[in-house]
Amino acid sequence: MSLVDLTSMAEPQTQLKKEINDRLKKLRDELSDYCFQCAKCTSGCEAHKLLELEPHKIVALLKRGLIDEMVNSDVIWTCMSCFKCRERCPQKVAPVEILFALKNLAVATGKQLPGNYTSWLQSVLSIGLLQDVKSVNTKDNKTVTRSDLGLPAVSKPVDPNKFQMMLSKLAVEKV
Ligand code: SF4
Ligand code: SF4
Repeated sequence: MSLVDLTSMAEPQTQLKKEINDRLKKLRDELSDYCFQCAKCTSGCEAHKLLELEPHKIVALLKRGLIDEMVNSDVIWTCMSCFKCRERCPQKVAPVEILFALKNLAVATGKQLPGNYTSWLQSVLSIGLLQDVKSVNTKDNKTVTRSDLGLPAVSKPVDPNKFQMMLSKLAVEKV
């Protein structure tokens, strides 16, 4: 599976889409009994402060069955997967699980990922890191590297091709 397939699933994945829809239906059936819209999840959400993600509304929209609307919205991609909503919920509801499923559904139905996701994935697939190791500038305007600071070298995949194949396989299995 190529990078293009991983990031956009050029062809809609019918079986995968059905599995994720079943997962969302199960989440909806479980959540409708428990979430009482206290918004404690949203009050602690890191993405809410910066990007206006409101996890309690995600739960409410799921309850109403508005899945397509959420899958087509950019807001689902602002979740940072910090799991605070799951920790804060007094009812043990996990909006983050809904957001994972919605993002997976977006990929399975061939939606284009936001640009940053594609470049991060490209970087992980090619060097095993979100971004390559960089030198930094100190307050007195000197450029220093990790070894200048006494830090160990960052390990990278020994065989990039093998690493890419393994990662692609894992990503498809875990969608
Ligand atoms: S998911 Fe939990 S914290 Fe969020 S509104 Fe529902 S009950 Fe409250
Ligand atoms: S996991 Fe996502 S939705 Fe939940 S608190 Fe963190 S950023 Fe917000």
